[in-house]
Amino acid sequence: IARNPGEAEFHQAVREVLDSLGPVVAKHPSYTQAAVIERLCEPERQIIFRVPWVDDAGNVRINRGFRVEFNSALGPYKGGLRFHPTVNVGIVKFLGFEQIFKNALTGLPIGGGKGGSDFDPKGCSEGEVMRFCQSFMTELYRHIGEYTDVPAGDIGVGGREIGYLFGQYKRITNRYESGMLTGKGITWGGSQVRKEATGYGTVFFVEEMLKQQRETFEGKRVVVSGSGNVAIYAMEKVVQLGGTVVAFSDSSGYVVEEDGVDVETLKQVKEVERGRIADYVERRGGRALLGSSGSIWDVPTDIALPCATQNELDEDHAATLVRNGCRIVAEGANMPTTAAATKVLADAGVLFAPGKAANAGGVATSALEMQQNASRDSWSFEHTERRLDEIMRGIHDRCLATADEYGVPGDYVAGANIAGFTHVADAMLALGVI
Ligand code: NDP
Repeated sequence: IARNPGEAEFHQAVREVLDSLGPVVAKHPSYTQAAVIERLCEPERQIIFRVPWVDDAGNVRINRGFRVEFNSALGPYKGGLRFHPTVNVGIVKFLGFEQIFKNALTGLPIGGGKGGSDFDPKGCSEGEVMRFCQSFMTELYRHIGEYTDVPAGDIGVGGREIGYLFGQYKRITNRYESGMLTGKGITWGGSQVRKEATGYGTVFFVEEMLKQQRETFEGKRVVVSGSGNVAIYAMEKVVQLGGTVVAFSDSSGYVVEEDGVDVETLKQVKEVERGRIADYVERRGGRALLGSSGSIWDVPTDIALPCATQNELDEDHAATLVRNGCRIVAEGANMPTTAAATKVLADAGVLFAPGKAANAGGVATSALEMQQNASRDSWSFEHTERRLDEIMRGIHDRCLATADEYGVPGDYVAGANIAGFTHVADAMLALGVI
């Protein structure tokens, strides 16, 4: 804490992993001898840079850009870029740290990194977003590449922003290096299912959790927070599997629709018109209602999928979920559940899937995009979705098997932390003190 002052989210993410590692270091003294944990907590490289750009009124605007290259023992750094006014070095470090273990859990050859800016795309014109992305890449390009560091999207960075970033990289370097960025459009090097992957993957993971209980999504009520990339495709897959999504949200509030959210209308409002949840409610003509008080977690549900942002589900929300009979919580977002809330859920016997396992489908499909780029190939939607499904089931089973091995059966948090850690730690041992 003294070494990284003020980085509350980073401390929280590190503590959550270290809490699981006691039995691992006891069993493998070589990890301690080689200072693997200390090395894992220190990013290999952190880049902070100025991003100057000119808005439509001719004013010069300054934002701050970040890329934290955390660990490359398993492959090139891999992790998204977030554009949101709350981005700072502590947020980027927490996300980059989580990313190391998540990427290790996929079993694919990718290291961990994360980046972004405190730029707020909300309310900006197309031209402003493009000029910002071009300025951001004008510095970032020298640090990234197919074999070095491969960014992708995150909050505030979707297909549009990836396009502008890729275009500027290509222009500066004079290289059509498809594998230097993922989340690209289908017609210029992107992968089928990448857009859907994080949301779909989270729901595939929950499907496996349900299977363990000899249950399915059929007839289940599901609440999904957020209405961005992850949330929309989580909702879509829940509906495909027979569940009913009864509520979703954005930072302005939440929507309840007891008969089930109409995902196609939501996609039209959010993805095509770039509207807000109030626009969705208007479109649904009385079938959907804006939440009038409290939070989305007050809506009774069997399954809760927090898919918006960090620390959005606190202790009180968790207690309400438990009281209302919620049985499964799976994190589509990164660290959306506070440490205290996780404890409330665990004490009540609610099955809990941490983000580093449940939302790994996005980065896994990014790695599949890299595979397609490297082989100059493109796979069908069905084939890619099948691969994603297999990867998510693999992660699920690895978490459970590891939890069993370390004497905490059914504990997905410990299983994910230990399985991710040992995979990276073994590679670090093999590569020597670097
Ligand atoms: P988007 O920008 O597409 O959507 C984010 C959604 O969350 C929006 O509905 C947004 O509402 C809401 N939100 C953001 N900040 C807040 C806040 N402070 N309070 C309430 N709601 C908020 O991002 P993604 O869907 O890509 O990302 C969502 C989460 O999933 C993040 O935690 C991200 O790190 C994680 N994730 C994303 C992956 C991906 O592939 N995209 C992969 C793995 C994890 P509003 O529009 O009002 O801001």
